[in-house]
Amino acid sequence: MDTVSSPIFLAEGEGADMRDMATDGRKAWVASLAVLLGMSAWTLPTRARASDTLESLASRDPLAGLSVSSFLGPDGRGMVISRSDSVEVFLPGPGTAGAAGLSVFFVSVGQGDAEYIELPDGRNALIDGGPADSSGSAIPPIAKFLAGRGVTKIDHVVLTHPHADHYAGLGYVFDNFQVGRFYDTRIDNSGATGDDLVRQKAAAEPGCASVHPAPGDSLDWAPGVAVRVLNSCPEPSRSSDVEMGASEVINNCSIVLKVVYGGSSVLFTGDVQDDVEARLASEYGDELRADVLKVGHHGSKHSSSAAFLDKVRPDLAYIEVGRNSYGHPAETAVARLQAVGASVRRTDRDGTQEYAVAPSTQGGDGATEVPVAAAGFFAGR
Ligand SMILES: [Zn+2]
Repeated sequence: MDTVSSPIFLAEGEGADMRDMATDGRKAWVASLAVLLGMSAWTLPTRARASDTLESLASRDPLAGLSVSSFLGPDGRGMVISRSDSVEVFLPGPGTAGAAGLSVFFVSVGQGDAEYIELPDGRNALIDGGPADSSGSAIPPIAKFLAGRGVTKIDHVVLTHPHADHYAGLGYVFDNFQVGRFYDTRIDNSGATGDDLVRQKAAAEPGCASVHPAPGDSLDWAPGVAVRVLNSCPEPSRSSDVEMGASEVINNCSIVLKVVYGGSSVLFTGDVQDDVEARLASEYGDELRADVLKVGHHGSKHSSSAAFLDKVRPDLAYIEVGRNSYGHPAETAVARLQAVGASVRRTDRDGTQEYAVAPSTQGGDGATEVPVAAAGFFAGR
């Protein structure tokens, strides 16, 4: 696989577009209904206006009497309302996807990874889909987030590597959303089931190409956005053929991406471990420098090595983690992140996090950290 280029939907014919829109609408409706049914309680949403204040929201029916415990985001995109019985309801905002530059959401999906990206031109990307619902529901945690954003299609879906805490939520995504392109690493998962199912769904998705990017490839996601592949396994491989533990081999096949926009950069590392981090540090050196790091392997002690972090030197480090028996995140890993000056955010404690980069003609300082949900709504699984 060489450089991946050309806008996907623009490349398709008008007839295909119309069919896609019909499919798109059905999928969105089913997704929204499913999420509504999955909620334990629901207040008919009153559309929030960007001019709303907490006081005006609290006084307006049907919200009167409810306690507004969170906030309307600075861009008016969403808020969390707490009812007196502690049930929390997420009201989607006006939906400004793509209008404000680039946004990266580190979605609180429990123990697993899911990062959702809104691109400057209105397209979007999802890196991993998180785990299945821990209580057995067919609706994974990522579905609630996507419904809250009003998402109906996803242009670019990346599976960093075939472990269930990264792929299980993607089955629902392929079933309920139109997907434009699927980026996959090329290693089996001998220790778990379901990876082939997601790959089969991707192969069966109308108009969706499955591609296996190689290190060094650039992905054409949106004008002005540079996406570079730093690690992957582009050739077919089997984890059982290698002497290391299969799980470590699969982790180390994670697709690693560096996304740069408007002078800001985000490094997505999947679950790569310290041996791959060492190779990346020697191969790319200061090119690894990034403002934001999606911390490797949920803060495992076997990732976030000092030599690697010395090259990345992130200002913000996001750990995607939930309740687990692995000791994630390890205190030693968090200490190494803090030692290079990173402010550490954890989705289990802080909820879903947004990092937004405003449109910038100067290539400069448009980046802000935007909290989007109080801990306890998207978190708590
Ligand atoms: Zn993982």
